[in-house]
Amino acid sequence: MDCCSQRAARHACLYTSEGRVLIKNARTPGSAAHRPKCTCSVCRRYSRAYLRHLFAAGEITAAILATHHNVHFYLDIMRQIREAIEFGNLANSHQDARALC
Ligand SMILES: [Zn+2]
Repeated sequence: MDCCSQRAARHACLYTSEGRVLIKNARTPGSAAHRPKCTCSVCRRYSRAYLRHLFAAGEITAAILATHHNVHFYLDIMRQIREAIEFGNLANSHQDARALC
């Protein structure tokens, strides 16, 4: 899971509930968060425009921040799946997991 998140992040790919976003190609750079409901520290602190700037400038910080977001996204999905299994509601609760396909 970490390897996949890191590889995607190195290529400026962020996982969101709406699917994968190539931040270098993002047409809405002013958006406040990479994922609307994401609670990771990257989305709380930095704008999409700033992250896009870091990738465009070739800053290694961009890949680090994107990896942090992607790992948080995966862990959040795993938490949701564990909760769904616990409550017997797995079939109706994997919306974010579909974004990874
Ligand atoms: Zn995030």
